[in-house]
Amino acid sequence: MMSNRKVDVLIIGGGAAGVRAAIEVKKTCSINKVALVTEGLLGKSGVTANACSDRMTFHATLPYTLPTGKDNWKYHAQDIYKIGGFVSDKELADILAKNSGEAITYLESLGVPWVKKDGKINQFLTDGSKYPRGCYTGPDTAKQILIALIKELKRLNIEVIENYTAVKLLASFKKERVIGCLGFKQEKKEESPLVFFAKTIVLATGGAGDIYEKSLFPSGMTGDGYCIAYNCGAEIVNIEFIQIGLSSVKTGLACSGSLMRTIPRIVNEKDEEFISDSFNLIFKKGSSWPLCSEDDSLKIDIAIYREIQKGSKVYLDYSRDPRGFDFNNLDSGLKEQYFTESSRNIGIDTPLNRLRKINLESIIWLKENGIDLEKGDKIELFPFIQHFQGGVKIDNEGRTTVKGLFACGEVAGGQHGANRPGGNALLDTQVFGKIAGKNASIEAKKIRGLKVDEEKILERIQNEIDEISINKQGAQASDVKRQVQGILFECANVIRTEDGLSKGLGGINIMKEKGVCLDNNGIIYYFKTLGALVVAEMLIRAARLRSESRGPHVTFISGRLALRDELKWRKYIVIRKINNEMKITVRKPG
Ligand SMILES: Cc1cc2nc3c(=O)[nH]c(=O)nc-3n(C[C@H](O)[C@H](O)[C@H](O)COP(=O)(O)OP(=O)(O)OC[C@H]3O[C@@H](n4cnc5c(N)ncnc54)[C@H](O)[C@@H]3O)c2cc1C
Repeated sequence: MMSNRKVDVLIIGGGAAGVRAAIEVKKTCSINKVALVTEGLLGKSGVTANACSDRMTFHATLPYTLPTGKDNWKYHAQDIYKIGGFVSDKELADILAKNSGEAITYLESLGVPWVKKDGKINQFLTDGSKYPRGCYTGPDTAKQILIALIKELKRLNIEVIENYTAVKLLASFKKERVIGCLGFKQEKKEESPLVFFAKTIVLATGGAGDIYEKSLFPSGMTGDGYCIAYNCGAEIVNIEFIQIGLSSVKTGLACSGSLMRTIPRIVNEKDEEFISDSFNLIFKKGSSWPLCSEDDSLKIDIAIYREIQKGSKVYLDYSRDPRGFDFNNLDSGLKEQYFTESSRNIGIDTPLNRLRKINLESIIWLKENGIDLEKGDKIELFPFIQHFQGGVKIDNEGRTTVKGLFACGEVAGGQHGANRPGGNALLDTQVFGKIAGKNASIEAKKIRGLKVDEEKILERIQNEIDEISINKQGAQASDVKRQVQGILFECANVIRTEDGLSKGLGGINIMKEKGVCLDNNGIIYYFKTLGALVVAEMLIRAARLRSESRGPHVTFISGRLALRDELKWRKYIVIRKINNEMKITVRKPG
């Protein structure tokens, strides 16, 4: 018979959210048997372990964060709600902000080496926030957080099963709650099915960058969590809102902050500056990264996207100033902002010298990673997918709409809205990781035993796997994945149009009708590709329905930017599987 295991709480995903949740399960109730499963290796897989930027940020309100006072978290909550385009759940935004101080203090107690000034954690201003709250350790803040969390996970002796990919959540007979998970354990080339029966499950599988042709996600991150939760009956919210940011093709480094505020030239392959009078906008791009429909630096993203669509490559060049650039002509507000992070006498130098003074570490980092700005190398840019704001809808306790199923981190939705202040994704992993872990643990403790006909379930699964193995109908999984990635790049990228999205949806429907079959990549890849198709369909349908621009969702109707429509669209789009069909509703956020 197929292998199976029983645990009280199963955590799926080993990023910052999953590990934080696992720790809290154990701390809440030490007798609960908890296991954390993760695709790939713990500490090596997922975004937390691999992401980096010029200064990776964790957003937090501390007692001394401006404007001080015991309710200073409320300013943070307001920022989350505002940049979220008022389409997040207000209470979730409050919870994030209110618990941020505790979250960072906990991480510090685990040994995260925050950069400090005068003995206090140093904070700087990030995009989407009114006051400086960005905390950091350097370009790899996320990795530092994960290292500290994993150390604690090991200290608590929490079981970890690596190289395990969850492909399906199992529901009880009457579908009233989740009771387990089917996945495959990969050892060398072998893929063996392994079922976990669990009283509660915390989903922490991260986002879906790899359903796009180019993303900053590690490959294989196809949004399995969105699909398996959806297939189990959970609501998905805000899935059309995805951060897309200009990043280095060679290194994956997000070209935000100082990399833009030093005002390099933006050139194409012919060394032409194809964006006119751009220097104020380039500066602004630094603090409005990734693309945001409410900020006029959006013009930079659009111009670069169009140039790339024409077939050209686009670069940042730090060797000299953009054409017509005069530091004195920079808008006065921007000049002030510039002076706050540098000395007053360097304004009339080259972009490279400005970068040297503001962020020398980034020059060193780029050199170590194959781009030598000192020698005149340029940074090739591409609009990369960086973060999914939406996901599996959660409530204040980290519960999804399926009983027994919790979600946290990037796979979860409702807390960010259309966009998020820089640093709030990592914060989210810690605040809702803790909340989901705690409540999953409490609920599991209350359940004495699940009445489950295990034998019957295992037999049904085995039959399903056998059928997949012999089916030769449909397109090969690898072809389908490639097509999904191409379609999304074309239709749900920097610019979205009704025609483009309808065409994209048409392509997805053809693939669905044709079906998918196993290829040499194996059964895990097959399931992940099916999942990618589902996520792509949800994303395109939601994007097509939202006939406005909000946050990173930029819609053009009849060639014109469709402006944000508060009357019609201060609402979120919720997707759910009902009677095997994808049902979409538009709701007022809670
Ligand atoms: C370049 C870049 C820069 C960023 N900068 C910032 C920043 O400065 N500040 C900020 O707040 N955020 C930033 N983010 C976003 C932030 O890093 C992520 O949102 C966050 O790390 C996600 O954590 P997570 O635990 O939810 O998911 P992940 O860290 O992605 O972990 C997901 C885990 O689930 C596992 N998994 C996936 N599918 C399965 C499956 N089917 N079965 C089993 N396991 C599975 C993965 O292997 C992994 O272990 C950045 C992201 C990128 C890409």
